[in-house]
Amino acid sequence: MALRFFNTLTRKKEEFVPIEPGKVGMYCCGPTVYDYAHIGNFRAYMFEDLLRRYLEYKGFKVTQVMNVTDVDDKTIAGSRAKNISLSEYTKRYKDAFFEDLDYLNIERAEHFPEATAHIKEMVDLVKKLLDKGYAYRSNGDIYFKLSSFKEYGKLSKMKLENLKIGARVASDEYEKEQASDFALWKGWDQKDGDVFWETELGKGRPGWHIECSAMSMKYLGEHFDIHTGGEDNIFPHHENEIAQSESATGKKFVNFWLHNGFLMVEGKKMAKSFGNYYTLRDLLNKEYNPMAIRYLLMSTHYRQQLNFTFQGLEAAKNAIQRLFDFLDNLKRVKEEKDNSEVDSLLQKAKMKFEDVLDDDLNISEGLGVIFDLVRDINRLIDDEKISRNDALKVIEQMRSFDKVLGVLEKDELVLDERIKELIKKRELARFEKNWELADKIRKEIEKEGIIIEDTPEGPKAKRKI
Ligand code: AMP
Ligand code: ZN
Repeated sequence: MALRFFNTLTRKKEEFVPIEPGKVGMYCCGPTVYDYAHIGNFRAYMFEDLLRRYLEYKGFKVTQVMNVTDVDDKTIAGSRAKNISLSEYTKRYKDAFFEDLDYLNIERAEHFPEATAHIKEMVDLVKKLLDKGYAYRSNGDIYFKLSSFKEYGKLSKMKLENLKIGARVASDEYEKEQASDFALWKGWDQKDGDVFWETELGKGRPGWHIECSAMSMKYLGEHFDIHTGGEDNIFPHHENEIAQSESATGKKFVNFWLHNGFLMVEGKKMAKSFGNYYTLRDLLNKEYNPMAIRYLLMSTHYRQQLNFTFQGLEAAKNAIQRLFDFLDNLKRVKEEKDNSEVDSLLQKAKMKFEDVLDDDLNISEGLGVIFDLVRDINRLIDDEKISRNDALKVIEQMRSFDKVLGVLEKDELVLDERIKELIKKRELARFEKNWELADKIRKEIEKEGIIIEDTPEGPKAKRKI
């Protein structure tokens, strides 16, 4: 079956055909670095990682661009409250963002353009809009004239009857109910302190929406394949991006618009402003394994809402543990006769996995396929009906699935000398019935992320997920 995505622009699943065969250009709205990102934000970045990984799995060469918003109302307010420069203020959160990506094993995009390093591109785009009559000046600001773009509303399907001609919004915050002329450029005012650029447009700074149009077109061209973000970005941010870009170039901006559903907490969107959020750091401090968090954020279809609970996180942890146990079981398989059933199980699983992922990235069914395979192969292992050669094939297939999942990459359990020594010491303590010491050593080993299980064959080391 062909690869299909649900396109917000048409509200339909459409076959994905790239502009240039074999290549995909995709732009993802990235973080505003005024604070640590919360795991709701990471649901968006996880969905984009899944999309990227699956496109790569299908053999596409992906060029992914994710912007870093390092100048806007919130970053300026934050730096002024702390009395430090904007760049000093945002650096901490930029660094934290990249660290968090690594914790979650999110592949790096090819480009992470920062808004403050692309003022020239934004100014050029605004100049073009002014020249063509799509923008106008008002008290030092420059606004996009909404009524000049006849297709406004085509992405969000928003009805324009409540459009007030000439109504303006300068703030970067969302205006939920009302479509308005929006600021492309904001003339300096006192609240901006020392944050401004002297440009041909005057002294000031860019609006938020223009940033994504200018930077996506710089790195991907005026017309590209995929643009993503959370569903809260559809209006007004992405609608405004379309209006600015298509007015400036006269071309269709993006072919496929993909949006993820929210991460929710007790029926409400996880958001800084509601105070109902966890950062990744909050969860890591509670000793949750980042791979369990990754699995949780990924395992529900990206367009569905996902309710965050600690129970869900426990379930994610157990799911990964099962996968690791499975790999460990496979590694212990002894030499037996090859079993032709294994080949057909693997082939079927691979086909089904690709079928469901081709269908708008149906990862929850994809995981179902993998766990069915785990169950069937585990049965063969228990019955000693699988050879070492078969087991290696299964491991290889699991690694191939994991190119998409990204949760098993760090699976090799290699015990260093110190841990081996501790295990020996603990055995001795147990032999001497010194339970207190044995327990103390066990805890020390656990701190290294390793659990010791005592089995009739002796102690077994397992990864602590
Ligand atoms: P922001 O920093 O608010 O612009 O958000 C960065 C990305 O995270 C955007 O794509 C948002 O749509 C997305 N996002 C924000 N909150 C959530 C949430 N609770 N669930 C899923 N995605 C979110
Ligand atoms: Zn954006």
